[in-house]
Amino acid sequence: MLTVANTTKWLQLFTDQVNTNQDALNQYDTPIGDGDHGSNLARGTTAMMDSLNKADLKSVSDVWKTAAMAIISKVGGAAGPLYGTAFLEMAKASKDRPADDIAVQPLIDASLKGLLKRGGAVPGDKTMVDVWTDVDADLEKGPLTSDQVKTAVESTKPMEAKKGRASYLGKDSVGHLDPGSVSSGFFFESLIQEGE
Ligand code: ADP
Ligand code: MG
Ligand code: MG
Repeated sequence: MLTVANTTKWLQLFTDQVNTNQDALNQYDTPIGDGDHGSNLARGTTAMMDSLNKADLKSVSDVWKTAAMAIISKVGGAAGPLYGTAFLEMAKASKDRPADDIAVQPLIDASLKGLLKRGGAVPGDKTMVDVWTDVDADLEKGPLTSDQVKTAVESTKPMEAKKGRASYLGKDSVGHLDPGSVSSGFFFESLIQEGE
């Protein structure tokens, strides 16, 4: 069950992973994009932790709302509005829940619906939606494993991009991991590390 403390910790772990792997994320975005995914996201996650550390967080919903606002205001490109949407949906889905009964899966489910609506991508389009879709289904069956996350991220490699910058490359996008899926992998690895 999510609490203010473990949700904040989850986001801190995500921020650490994004910062550590900022260059790698830029490199994933180089052959099939504009090489900025790591820099974009690191700017946002750093601002997000600043906001979270300053805010008076009374509920899990407050954590996601504060995180979403920081990400939306700091991250340019496609990923900012998308992560922002995902986090805002988590804020909404956790808002009217009893404080001691906020499970992860319904929140991820709500985020995925928001992502699908906001970005217009469907599973198989080689976007972060692929990882969120697989993780959502895996979480329904039980606790998430690192292998499941890796499999979800890897599944984007053979796909041809149909949305976002990578789609401009058509068939040349095949054979590369989708950068937003790699960063989403960090997000879910952080959830596992935090202890869910
Ligand atoms: P930009 O492409 O604008 O430079 P980023 O590099 O930060 O933005 O983010 C690129 C990532 O955003 C992609 O790897 C992909 O996962 C995700 N993305 C792009 N467009 C969409 C979309 N329409 N729906 C879902 N995810 C998308
Ligand atoms: Mg980019
Ligand atoms: Mg860009």
